[in-house]
Amino acid sequence: KVVCVTGASGYIASWLVKFLLNRGYTVNASVRDPSDPKKTQHLLCLEGAKERLHLFKADLLEEGSFDSDIDGCEGVFHTASPFYHDVKDPQAELIDPAVKGTLNVLNSCAKTSSVKRVVVTSSTAAVVYNGKPRTPDVTADETWFSDAEFCKASKLWYNLSKTLAEEAAWKFAKEKGLDMVTINPAMVIGPLLQPTLNTSAAAILSLINGAETFPNLSYGWVYVKDVANAHIQAFEIPSANGRYCLVERVTHHSEIVNILRELYPNLQLPERCEDENPYVPTYKVSKEKTMSLGIDYIPFEVSVKETVESLKEKGFIHF
Ligand code: NDP
Repeated sequence: KVVCVTGASGYIASWLVKFLLNRGYTVNASVRDPSDPKKTQHLLCLEGAKERLHLFKADLLEEGSFDSDIDGCEGVFHTASPFYHDVKDPQAELIDPAVKGTLNVLNSCAKTSSVKRVVVTSSTAAVVYNGKPRTPDVTADETWFSDAEFCKASKLWYNLSKTLAEEAAWKFAKEKGLDMVTINPAMVIGPLLQPTLNTSAAAILSLINGAETFPNLSYGWVYVKDVANAHIQAFEIPSANGRYCLVERVTHHSEIVNILRELYPNLQLPERCEDENPYVPTYKVSKEKTMSLGIDYIPFEVSVKETVESLKEKGFIHF
């Protein structure tokens, strides 16, 4: 079976490509710059890559650039989307590639009869940012949608990009009768396959690179291999449908520091919070729907440990 993965050199996508190759798929994998070894080397040396991995050049903002490599695929995994926070022009840097890019890829899928299902990597950024209270007694689930106006007012530009992209995707899929499933993970951590640092692993690194304070934030977290597997299950299980939130646990950053201290007692870690406000509360995200994909979540502590070990191995930290 042939499938396509967009943004294949990315953090999550690299694991997805690895697992797809392991399962015997032929993978058409898009990268923006196939001549950059930092983006391709780790993919080319995966088991099965020689025989069944085909890299192709495509850009989200170039209309039709995915057409020929999606044509003939049974499944498409659309993961490509910019994920970073330090932006000057949110529209050009985040929103356009997220929204226009998603429609560009879905349009290529709609042009061919070979595609049976599209799995889009959305995010909990498109789920929980709607102004509803998030406290320990609240359980968010797949029926929640982030609110674009709320994201704009809070200047949550990445969250806005994912919210608008998912909204546009559902509208398009409905109109064209595309079978689409979205995977909505929280912050994804665990070992890195790629040699570069991605935003979510950087969130853990930022706590161990000598910072004096930790952010007063509570985020959801999930293990990268669980996320990659969920994508494949969402494609392979015929009855999979709609959205799937992937969150092992929501924790405050103070709790991550505690876990790191327990794991690495000699590590220099931030002692205090960045402000004196009460800690931003945690909340819950329902695991019920994702359980139907057979995902048995790896505990957060294990994800944290494997992230640190991987960051160490890749030379991002020395201790
Ligand atoms: P990475 O930054 O590692 O990967 C992002 C990928 O998107 C890269 O391959 C990048 O290509 C590609 N991309 C960005 N802009 C363009 C463009 N204009 N044209 C083509 N490709 C482009 O991110 P992650 O693996 O973390 O994220 C992958 C997906 O998962 C994204 O959709 C993200 O929103 C989502 N997600 C991530 C979470 C996380 O915590 N990591 C949590 C929830 C959702 P290039 O290599 O050429 O730069």
